[in-house]
Amino acid sequence: MTAPPDLRETDRTRLRRLAARGTFDRSLVEAVLDEAYLAHVGFVVDGEPRVLPMTYGRVDDVLYLHGAAGNAMLKAASGVEVCVTVTILDGLVLARSAFHHSMNYRSVVLLGRAEKVLDPEEKTRAVDAIVEHVVPGRGAETRPSSPSELRATTVLRLRIEEGSAKVRTGDAIDEPDDVESAHWAGVVPLRLVAGAPIANGDLAPELADRSPRAERFDRTARRRDTTTTT
Ligand SMILES: Cc1cc2nc3c(=O)[nH]c(=O)nc-3n(C[C@H](O)[C@H](O)[C@H](O)COP(=O)(O)OP(=O)(O)OC[C@H]3O[C@@H](n4cnc5c(N)ncnc54)[C@H](O)[C@@H]3O)c2cc1C
Repeated sequence: MTAPPDLRETDRTRLRRLAARGTFDRSLVEAVLDEAYLAHVGFVVDGEPRVLPMTYGRVDDVLYLHGAAGNAMLKAASGVEVCVTVTILDGLVLARSAFHHSMNYRSVVLLGRAEKVLDPEEKTRAVDAIVEHVVPGRGAETRPSSPSELRATTVLRLRIEEGSAKVRTGDAIDEPDDVESAHWAGVVPLRLVAGAPIANGDLAPELADRSPRAERFDRTARRRDTTTTT
């Protein structure tokens, strides 16, 4: 099977500012999607903008979103154009001047039409992918969704076709005149760290030693090289 092509550069996905930080490289886009937890899903409802945080799952070149069947957002976003953004914040960039402060990040913007998934098999695959995205291996450790739970779930499919990624890495970039000034400049790295799992209050005592290890939730283990641009 041939790999899907890079994302489509169109009038609406072409970066205008600092375009050298942008890329349409599919492997980079997928790496960001696979490492991050959250998406912000933007769409227009009754002529007004909405942006809601959601989790997601990826299967090849498809991004899945899900929620309760009664979820107003999923109803409104079904069959309409959406904009999905995913961001990993890697650091605070402290410049000598207030103006040149920045952030190191890897971000993805996806555009397209979200379609409601009707096929039960695809729906099951999508829900499994979302669970696996958040906690790899968890699908095998849990009770599978029942038919009524699946009926109570709406799943939307967005093809990963039109979009872009943007990556900022490295130092603060100051004005030449400021470089010799007495202000500190540099980067404060940031990363999301999992704490030790806390067992449910109602957990049967004999399961107490089955707590997963915190390292399992360390997303940096999923990190692939996404530093191809500067
Ligand atoms: C954590 C974080 C904080 C930021 N803070 C600011 C801020 O405070 N002020 C500010 O002006 N900018 C900020 N940015 C950058 C911002 O996301 C835009 O990249 C920037 O505003 C320039 O947009 P543009 O005019 O080039 O693109 P636009 O013309 O606005 O967008 C054109 C297309 O470029 C692509 N694109 C634009 N930005 C991104 C992106 N970040 N990731 C992937 N694709 C993108 C999209 O496909 C978009 O449709 C931040 C980015 C991140 C990730």
